[in-house]
Amino acid sequence: MDDNRIKEILQKEEFNKSELIELLNSDDAGKKLIFAKAAEIKEKYVGNKVYFRGLIEFSNICAKNCYYCGIRGGNKKLQRYYVTENEVLEAVKYAWENKYASLVIQAGERKSKKFVDSITNLLQKINAMTNNEMGITLSLGEQSEETFMKWHAAGARRYLLRIEASNRELYKKLHPNNKTHDFDTRLNALHLLRKCGYQVGTGVMIGLPFQTIEDLADDLLFFKEFDIDMAGMGPYIEHEDTPLYQYRDQLMSKKDRFDLSLKMVALLRIMMKDINIAATTAMQTLDKMGREKAIKVGSNIIMPNLTPVKYRESYLLYEDKPCIDEEASECKNCLEARIHISGAEIGYGEWGDSKHFKNRR
Ligand code: SAH
Ligand code: SF4
Repeated sequence: MDDNRIKEILQKEEFNKSELIELLNSDDAGKKLIFAKAAEIKEKYVGNKVYFRGLIEFSNICAKNCYYCGIRGGNKKLQRYYVTENEVLEAVKYAWENKYASLVIQAGERKSKKFVDSITNLLQKINAMTNNEMGITLSLGEQSEETFMKWHAAGARRYLLRIEASNRELYKKLHPNNKTHDFDTRLNALHLLRKCGYQVGTGVMIGLPFQTIEDLADDLLFFKEFDIDMAGMGPYIEHEDTPLYQYRDQLMSKKDRFDLSLKMVALLRIMMKDINIAATTAMQTLDKMGREKAIKVGSNIIMPNLTPVKYRESYLLYEDKPCIDEEASECKNCLEARIHISGAEIGYGEWGDSKHFKNRR
């Protein structure tokens, strides 16, 4: 497609679906124009800082069976774990002392009272230990309004719940067809999070089997329509012990999946100028410089892994997940160097909340 057409679309205030499809299908020259525009918007609206969210992969115990995920309940090959309270607090201490200012607690989905209470208790302890100075994000799947409220009251301020695929027909192909894997429940959980006062983050996987460019255009429009505060998107990466592995021959090449993921980040930055967008670990799995590239074209959040190393191998959502044997300090040094290479600076000691969330208020 000719460059002038891409330029013409990029000048518009809003993109419709067919324009997004043209942008997503653009060739290398078009891609450069998109990336340049996204970088310019990023600089102007969110600036040059990248904020750290120390990631604690709290537990791989999961009641669900998503067809893409390596830690799905049905995968019997895994050692199941949860990080002890002391280990979590140690990781938090590291983050706090190193001025990370924010944390993400992520795990498989569980709804038992025991689990809910253990998270509430942990939130209270983290806040007591850090004088409420930590910005806390949760990523613990779909929960009831009551649970979301309880965790918010205990100090969680942001929540990540990827819609995974905003097309409900596609969603059905990626999940078992039952009540625990219901598209409407997931969508409703996003609305509940907004209602409970969280900064709401969502996202999709890119390059999934059965997914089309039209679907991705609709995903971007979905984010805009929902008016999300934060996004985390990355390429889908196959995992041997999952049902979707049988479709591996139908997937785009890893390079194409990566390129498309980068385009999704850049386009979302252009469309939603002041939200927070993560440079995800999955980006780095497919390209050694994946996170740096994402930062250049729109991302402003990075999640250094603080999970104790002994558990990391048991939290393989997908194949070839990087950084599974690096201690927190090595991870910090590595990311500092990487962010420096991207020409960005680290917002140490700052929460780096979604500007979009504040601007809405
Ligand atoms: N259980 C929670 C949080 C942990 S899973 C939840 O599902 O919301 C975190 C994310 O990992 C998921 O949202 C999914 O988008 C991503 N993920 C899982 N399997 C993946 C795979 N094979 N490739 C890429 N991302 C994957
Ligand atoms: Fe569980 Fe989340 Fe993996 Fe689904 S994506 S199986 S809910 S950890």
